[in-house]
Amino acid sequence: MLIGAHVSTAGGVQNAPANGQEIGCETIALFSKNQRQWLAKPYTEEQVETFRDGIKETGLREVVVHDSYLINLGAPKEEVWKKSVAAFRDEMLRCKALGIPYLNFHPGAHVGEGEEVCIRKIVATLQALLSEQEDNPTMLLVENTAGQGTNVGYRFEHVGAILDGVGDERMGACLDTQHTFAAEYDLSDDEGYDKTLAAFDDHVGLGRLRAFHLNDSKTGLGSRVDRHENIGEGAIGVRPFQRLVNDPRFAGVAGILETPGGPPVWQEEIALLRSWRKEGAPDHETGLGARPAH
Ligand SMILES: [Zn+2]
Ligand SMILES: [Zn+2]
Repeated sequence: MLIGAHVSTAGGVQNAPANGQEIGCETIALFSKNQRQWLAKPYTEEQVETFRDGIKETGLREVVVHDSYLINLGAPKEEVWKKSVAAFRDEMLRCKALGIPYLNFHPGAHVGEGEEVCIRKIVATLQALLSEQEDNPTMLLVENTAGQGTNVGYRFEHVGAILDGVGDERMGACLDTQHTFAAEYDLSDDEGYDKTLAAFDDHVGLGRLRAFHLNDSKTGLGSRVDRHENIGEGAIGVRPFQRLVNDPRFAGVAGILETPGGPPVWQEEIALLRSWRKEGAPDHETGLGARPAH
């Protein structure tokens, strides 16, 4: 597993690669624009060039954009749904412009309309967006959620239903360890780790898993609350993280920290995670995984 963090884009996306390199990232995630706004100015040519050069120079791989938290592709309200579609279309175009291989998104919330209706709407919306941009190679990664409020995606069945429903090879998945635990999949010990990943494999397929969010949990098993904690300081503990960084099934897959504390803490956590990689593990030392770089 490649290890990194969701880094700041203060001053512009072009600053993200250096922010990642500074704290020892092998991979990074970023917002493509201010995540609290629906729309933003397009990138300048210079920004795009600086970003692309930055990725080359730093050697960062498997870079992921996280979509805006405002977006709800399954929104029952027409107005919110329309804004969400426009914003997601823009996220896809921004990934393409920057040459970023993955766009990671939270599936959506049903806001009282029911999970099934919501999942159907998300599927239809993604199909339409993907067919609009047939030449866009960006892979869309559905992230499993904690199931807070009316969010769908807390069951692996939901994630699988979205991927199968859309039926496009540009669809993949992202697994957040905190959300998984909050959604009552107990991956904290060895037996639970194996069971959880087997369940994911059954309903989604491990081959479709292209990124992880590495977060411990402030809240307990099955809390359905989305609260990240620093690695080893929460209810999950260190064991699943020690396994993930050595698991040959995830060689070359991005593992992104979204823990509290900011860059100085992430730097320590990256060093800790790297120290757990055993000699001979696929990404040990060289950081060279089995997957080709994009
Ligand atoms: Zn996450
Ligand atoms: Zn979260």
